[in-house]
Amino acid sequence: MAGLYIHIPFCQSRCIYCDFYSTTLPASWQMPYIEALGRELELRVTNYEIRNYNSELGTQNSELDTLYIGGGTPSQLTSEALRRLFHIIDQHITLAPDAEVTIEANPDDVCPQWISLLKDTPVNRISMGVQSLDDGILRTLHRRHTARQAKEAIKWLQEAGYQNLSIDLIYGLPGQSLSQFESDVREVLAMGIPHLSAYALQFEEGTPLMQMKAKGEVTEADEELSLACYNKLIDLTHNAGLEHYEISNFARPGWRSRHNSSYWTGTPYLGLGAGAHSYDGKRQRSYNCEDLKRYIQEIEQGQLPMQIEELDEDARYNERVMLSLRTCEGLSLSALEQDFGRERLNYCLRMVKPHIEGGRLQEKADKSLCLTRLGLFVSDDLISDLMV
Ligand code: SF4
Repeated sequence: MAGLYIHIPFCQSRCIYCDFYSTTLPASWQMPYIEALGRELELRVTNYEIRNYNSELGTQNSELDTLYIGGGTPSQLTSEALRRLFHIIDQHITLAPDAEVTIEANPDDVCPQWISLLKDTPVNRISMGVQSLDDGILRTLHRRHTARQAKEAIKWLQEAGYQNLSIDLIYGLPGQSLSQFESDVREVLAMGIPHLSAYALQFEEGTPLMQMKAKGEVTEADEELSLACYNKLIDLTHNAGLEHYEISNFARPGWRSRHNSSYWTGTPYLGLGAGAHSYDGKRQRSYNCEDLKRYIQEIEQGQLPMQIEELDEDARYNERVMLSLRTCEGLSLSALEQDFGRERLNYCLRMVKPHIEGGRLQEKADKSLCLTRLGLFVSDDLISDLMV
């Protein structure tokens, strides 16, 4: 089964740590952008080059399993733009009866009016970027909302019947202590949230956060504190009955993100919109340009503003190792041999040996390899050791 991702790049303001493609262009750009998304979908369906996406996605004859509207800030869409977006989707796509339809939202956009607008759409899952429940930290990050607004948004959504909620948190934030992060996780879990994504703060090139670091205005959390936060997160979510199903993702049984899971298992997906990526499930990834005005202009001229990357054998092997080891299912050695041959399997077995002996990787009864708790803490280095 495959998924459709739609990128809505509008943000009211920019958070200091963010390196996703988004723009603060005014709302008057929303309708032209939504129309361009519809045109891109038509072009994708008819364009010979990407006909394989079409057949994989079943946009003509079968049903779509997951739809994810991400950003940017999709909850910034006006009611007119959101309705038009779902009308376009409805014209081109058949969703499976049990399709997972996710929209990302910022807490301060969630209000009873927005929720009633959502009720007219097939959305059944909301992913909300809360990041922290400390107002001082939220201000430092230039988040637009307060902790109270985030909690209120969760309550409103739950009262309206949206139980399938995912919350994003960040740890290793400037000024954050272990006890503050622990209190965030406890509070989110106490609210009955079935899905939690938590990431260590990254200092990405070109972000205001990186500039602040260069000027000495913020410092990176030391590694010990970040590891203590991650450790606490794993314990608290485990005690609350959530599965640690991917390095940064935790869910109650039955509440995993089906859409994001398809990224980690190499399932094909189609990404629409400025900055969106696609994967044909075989050898090709494509990347749309990260420029809203150029995206609209080229789409209006009947061109797909994307670059295609052909993945060679090494790149495919590296992706397989990296993505599977992120998941609790791990890396299947039999599938690795089947897809890449005995020689590549032997290479992998040689490289994993010290990590198995060091207790960072374990081999399960079904002949797959997965990270141990120790391995989770050094996953980046460990995974890069296994690459070609
Ligand atoms: S709202 Fe989300 S996408 Fe927009 S700048 Fe902040 S983190 Fe990035």
